[in-house]
Amino acid sequence: ESVKPSNFLRQIIEADLAQGTHADNRWAGSPGDAAHQGAGALDPARIRTRFPPEPNGYLHVGHAKSICLNFGLARDYGGVCHLRFDDTNPEKEEQEYVDGIIDAVHWLGFDWKDPDGHENLYYASNYFDFMYRAAEYLIEAGHAYVDEQTAEEMRVSRGDFSKPGVDSPYRGRTPAENLARFREMRDGKLADGAAVLRARIDMAHPNINLRDPAIYRIKRAEHHNTGDKWCIYPMYTFAHPIEDALECITHSICTLEFEDQRPFYDWLLDRLAEGGLIAKPHPRQYEFARLNLTYVVTSKRKLKHLVDNGIVSGWDDPRMPTIVGLRRRGYTPASIQMFCERIGVTKDYSWIDYSTLEGCLREDLETKAHRAMVVLDPLKLELTNWAEVFGGGDHLEPCSLPALPHAQEGAAVPERRFTLGREVWIEREDFAELPPKGYKRLFPGNKVRLKGGYVIECTGCEKNAAGQVTKVLATVVPDTKSGTPGADSVKVKAAITWVGVADGVQAEVRLYDRLFTDAQPDAGGKDFLALLNPDSLKVVTAYVEPSLAAARPEDKFQFERFGYFVADRKEHAPGQPVFNRVTGLKDSWAK
Ligand code: ATP
Ligand code: MG
Ligand code: MG
Repeated sequence: ESVKPSNFLRQIIEADLAQGTHADNRWAGSPGDAAHQGAGALDPARIRTRFPPEPNGYLHVGHAKSICLNFGLARDYGGVCHLRFDDTNPEKEEQEYVDGIIDAVHWLGFDWKDPDGHENLYYASNYFDFMYRAAEYLIEAGHAYVDEQTAEEMRVSRGDFSKPGVDSPYRGRTPAENLARFREMRDGKLADGAAVLRARIDMAHPNINLRDPAIYRIKRAEHHNTGDKWCIYPMYTFAHPIEDALECITHSICTLEFEDQRPFYDWLLDRLAEGGLIAKPHPRQYEFARLNLTYVVTSKRKLKHLVDNGIVSGWDDPRMPTIVGLRRRGYTPASIQMFCERIGVTKDYSWIDYSTLEGCLREDLETKAHRAMVVLDPLKLELTNWAEVFGGGDHLEPCSLPALPHAQEGAAVPERRFTLGREVWIEREDFAELPPKGYKRLFPGNKVRLKGGYVIECTGCEKNAAGQVTKVLATVVPDTKSGTPGADSVKVKAAITWVGVADGVQAEVRLYDRLFTDAQPDAGGKDFLALLNPDSLKVVTAYVEPSLAAARPEDKFQFERFGYFVADRKEHAPGQPVFNRVTGLKDSWAK
């Protein structure tokens, strides 16, 4: 049915929908929590996925892959994707990050509403009471025990790939003893780290994750949602399957690192179902390869280091691979969605070249972004015969060019208007007093067209004491204006971009480049801080055509010959234009 290229997840979902695998999936738990009551009214024909970020930082491009995947599958198969804050770790989580994540998912174009309008936005911490009850159930059923070995003793006794583990001396405690001890943990009678609750599975299991994993720990820390209600917190591996089950998730999609955890995921849900705490069928976990993108780091911890140490201006610095950074850089939701579709979903570990992302942006903006001329490295040019030809030195000749040369068939082509006068700004590199071989632009005796204006002939230049060119001199060739019958009367080999001195607008232009000089700054134990690109930001004072004076923050343009630019989301203002370079016109990264 789907016109999108298939992948292993789509095949699984299509088979499940055809077989009605999840048809009996009903929310059966009773955590007494209003937050997820909406999941109680499930349509059996629906799939439910979830995106479960930990609110300990801003989302990055890797998360975008997971978002597009989970929300995209739900959208394509008429299901629902939940946004769930995996906030079981009390220490690093903040409201600022919660808000940032909500914004990012919305901005990317997704939401978490049921067809009936119910908002599927959940907090794992709202299930703490249920999780606690699940832990007591496991204890009562003989599936969990309180271990008071030191962390080091537990590490050693767990064994490794070559040898089985050794039972803890606490493993034989009775359920009653364990229950009493666990309640003491909960009631703050034990110090942080003095004991953990462990699942009682198999200390000789070939999968080390099943050698009695810890499921609850003692941690005196204020939680952003539950405050100081708890001094014990569930471990991620215990919490996550419960969260999925309570929300009736059908397909729990995660990255490959969690493959070894899947047996515990299934073990736990089976035990809780035996105890009548959750209903069947259970959510199923599926793993895919995480996104590795060249020239960026995507660990939240490392990104936070860049922010905290002032290496970038913030989480939304346009060089950051965060979603807020990509947004401020000028990336569009459509380009990021296109990128995530294009890279696909597999179980194979691979690197995606950054140029793939840039290519998607170009493809999205090619037919949408208005064209404009800009001079990034301005040099003044004077048309010395202007007064003579136009009857006055102050004469301004109206010019125009299409704003969207490739506008859709039948659509009106918007125009940009600007004027040509006696003085114009040109790019410094468009003049050469002594032209190198094959140079077609301005040099004494040569003619070029001022794009959208007239043909001009270079006559010479002025220089300062240091020998630097301060002004180019030229004459305008009458009756050669673009779009008039005489336009082709004089043949030229080049048309150069320019901005009028009279109506050009001064603007700050931020020329961003990759933040790292190494394609894999985060791989193989490399010190990513030693690989920072010292030239990742160059700020120039440029002149832009007058139409850009009306640009609003986040408006995107193609600056002719230079690439795609965006009016800065934060610092662009009327009278104070600031533009960021998103990407060049061609693939500049595959140098
Ligand atoms: P980081 O290690 O960068 O902090 P994380 O995996 O700890 O990332 P979470 O907030 O737990 O961050 O991630 C939320 C979801 O995003 C998880 O399901 C995770 O698998 C997914 N995710 C994180 N990084 C990537 C990536 N590079 N590619 C694809 N999915 C990712
Ligand atoms: Mg995580
Ligand atoms: Mg992490």
